Amino acid sequence: MILVNERENVLKYCQKMLDQKLTTGSGGNISIYNREENLVAISPGSMDYYAISAADVMVVDIEGNIIDGKNNPSSEMAFHLALLKAREDINAVIHTHSIYATAMACLRMEIPPLHYLVGLIGDKVPVAEYATFATPELAQHIIRDIQGYNACLLANHGVVAVGPDIEKCFIIAEHVELAAQIYLAAVNAGSPVLLGNDEMDRLQQKFRQYVLKPK
Ligand SMILES: [Zn+2]
Repeated sequence: MILVNERENVLKYCQKMLDQKLTTGSGGNISIYNREENLVAISPGSMDYYAISAADVMVVDIEGNIIDGKNNPSSEMAFHLALLKAREDINAVIHTHSIYATAMACLRMEIPPLHYLVGLIGDKVPVAEYATFATPELAQHIIRDIQGYNACLLANHGVVAVGPDIEKCFIIAEHVELAAQIYLAAVNAGSPVLLGNDEMDRLQQKFRQYVLKPK
């Protein structure tokens, strides 16, 4: 089997995504890019992540041609590949429908810098303009609107997180959901105090140095 490590990790993190309630059913997907081999391991479409094995994870080239595996790659392959091509700083992409972040995506509200952990993503979590799922337009909107960030909300849809490796990408996806939960709880009780630009710059630098540093 080719890309064993990446395929095992795609499966492991797809299951983890379900365990941690970041998505339901087969409504989330993950890709990991092996730049040396120029191949991508990507979750298969519409399959039960608890019922499959690593061999069910698809291997495609960066143009989306199937190299190994007998299933269909995720229907959102277009934006995974577009991100992995456009961003040299990333090797993993996670897409979830985590509830609180998706609620904000449906309100088309950015997550503002109300908590220091937003610094893992940038000075906020932006919202990518709406387009129908699994279309080239959605990929274009994400590429444009995620620029300068490690994640974005997808209007009326969900979340995309990117990272230098799958472990860090998962941390980012988890924290987008945490920040959305905290924001929605805070605005229920009052007006959250936001952190300023200087502090967000400092936090982002610290996270790049200590948490998001590539191995
Ligand atoms: Zn989706």
